[in-house]
Amino acid sequence: MKYIDIHTHSFPDTLAERAIAGIASVSGDIKPKTDGTVSGLIRAMNEDGISVSVIASIATKVPQFDAILNWSKTIMTDRIVPFASIHPEDVSFKERIEKVLGSNIRGLKIHTFYQGHAVDDKIWFPLYDAAQETNIPILFHAGFDVAFAALDQAHPWRFRKVVDNFPKLNIIMAHMGGWLAYNDFLRDMCGKKVMIDTSCSAGLCPVEVAREILSRHGAENILFGSDCPWGGQKDHIRFVKDFCPDEKKQELIFYKNAERLLKISAPEI
Ligand SMILES: [Zn+2]
Repeated sequence: MKYIDIHTHSFPDTLAERAIAGIASVSGDIKPKTDGTVSGLIRAMNEDGISVSVIASIATKVPQFDAILNWSKTIMTDRIVPFASIHPEDVSFKERIEKVLGSNIRGLKIHTFYQGHAVDDKIWFPLYDAAQETNIPILFHAGFDVAFAALDQAHPWRFRKVVDNFPKLNIIMAHMGGWLAYNDFLRDMCGKKVMIDTSCSAGLCPVEVAREILSRHGAENILFGSDCPWGGQKDHIRFVKDFCPDEKKQELIFYKNAERLLKISAPEI
């Protein structure tokens, strides 16, 4: 089996230590699985047999677009697929997306809690509009976030409005469609034209709920992800096998859906 992890995080070597310590300090008991560097992630991937990881960075300010894009270009390999990030208060969404795609970057990450506007806030609409035109995948944080208590800026019900307004937008809702909001996903978004990832769900999303999501949302719409370093890659392989014993469906979840989405072929390792 090959594994493509659609949802991991790493930082430039000079920032990694501070970034990891900062996030860990507001994330309760979660112990990071890497030192936050790309080489640390590759070590973890080698240990757990992961072919490819998507690294999802977040622009928390407008000018970070360029810094993230430039760094992303330096770390891109056949095993590391970086996603770029655009801040909602930016103005040149179309040019930004052209620059991203022109750099061979295969997706964008949006985390509304760090970017200050709910997913269905109209400020995002010009970006969604430009993204929809190009079919670029957007990995959205979905549900609650361990660092932000009870904010609902990325709750499943808000994605309804996004999908209704942008029916062709290539959406990936992270964390089984909503971190600690699994039943809200089932109620509000299940069966809609979105993909979800499994990241940061092992040990949190009850297996019977995950089974229901699988049966109602379909294996072709689920992507393997861990949220490494905040989730273990091996733990998430086990989680997928627990809720999805069917090997053909596992192939879709573990790498085939991601190969199609990212237009890559995962190397054997
Ligand atoms: Zn994440």
